[in-house]
Amino acid sequence: MLNLPIYLDYNSTTPVDPRVLEAMLPYFTQKFGNAASRSHAFGWEGEEAVDIAREQVARLLGAETKEIVFTSGATEGDNLALKGVFEAYASKGNHLITVVTEHKAVLDAAHHIERLGGEVTFLPVNPEGFIDLGQLEAAIRPTTVLIAVMYANNEIGVIQPIPAISAIARRHGIPFFTDATQAAGKVPVDVNADGIDLLTLSAHKMYGPKGIGAVYVRRRDPRVRLTAQMDGGGHERGMRSGTLNVPAIVGLGMACEICEREMIAEAARVARLRDRLETGLLAIDGARVNGSREFRLPHTTNLSFPGVDGEALLAGLGKDVALSSGSACTSASMEPSYVLKALGVEDQLAHSSLRLGLGRFTTDEEVDYAIWRIRETVAKLRERAIQ
Ligand SMILES: *Cc1c(COP(=O)(O)O)cnc(C)c1O
Repeated sequence: MLNLPIYLDYNSTTPVDPRVLEAMLPYFTQKFGNAASRSHAFGWEGEEAVDIAREQVARLLGAETKEIVFTSGATEGDNLALKGVFEAYASKGNHLITVVTEHKAVLDAAHHIERLGGEVTFLPVNPEGFIDLGQLEAAIRPTTVLIAVMYANNEIGVIQPIPAISAIARRHGIPFFTDATQAAGKVPVDVNADGIDLLTLSAHKMYGPKGIGAVYVRRRDPRVRLTAQMDGGGHERGMRSGTLNVPAIVGLGMACEICEREMIAEAARVARLRDRLETGLLAIDGARVNGSREFRLPHTTNLSFPGVDGEALLAGLGKDVALSSGSACTSASMEPSYVLKALGVEDQLAHSSLRLGLGRFTTDEEVDYAIWRIRETVAKLRERAIQ
């Protein structure tokens, strides 16, 4: 039996895996201690749970536990990385390099830095969604203090050539930050093999709870400095004060452990479903995929259907298939996706696009239903347009 609506918006958020919820539950009630309470067993219990979770997050990334800082999510992590580096490296310079297709959390933090007197270069991308490595290198100045390039894009799933980007950053002695919110737990991410100095992730994109995430901050070769954006009790080695959200941290840890264990098999399964969905939808006259099909997340596809209004398409599907036209953060506006525009997709075509995100609980039956339902809706809308 098929349960409607079908969820195909896993890039926007994911359900909490039942195994994650189970791990979290005791920490709301019996094990409620403040992880910073050093004087009694309740506190020790909380601290121990946080230590284990830190280990689980670190292992997923090939990092050390002391390099993991818990935050409220990737938006906070992105802000901490950009503003924290901008402040900490003020004596070296005030220039940052990032990319036009970054998540709003990075772009808006960069604009804030501009208002504080910083200078930011926003690199363009080619029609496949990649930055040009020559352009990146040419943008570097003596005053550049950070290069920020996302691991995988949330709208088109395109994975940037991270090791090549980090090699350029390393050669120039500039810290390299990557927003890995969509990539972590879905494809192998290793801070050492990938040459990453700073990284953000978020639990709710990887079957953990909302409102919790982590920043990886490299401690050796080079040691990255970060000015706290939240002052207080000096939690998280002074980089992020505030009483730790122990149940959520336990959930993030378990989510990372499950991803680490199951990622390879899950990626293969989901990629097969995604390819089947994509093939089924490419049978629609004029349909095309946006961004590289070669280097991208296994669970994401972004398609345009010329001659169909995206809003009408979403409205027509709304009851039965839950998906979005772009990122949830900007879909409230009628503006076409800035990511698709950056690829050079014309407004009209960008307006007729769907982002499909599959995940851990997507089934063959759901994919087949979605293909049928989207085909039918596109056909109806096109008929109506002709009349
Ligand atoms: C979802 C997302 C964010 C924001 O994460 P929150 O934890 O919801 O704040 C940041 N960057 C990317 C790439 C995302 O997909």
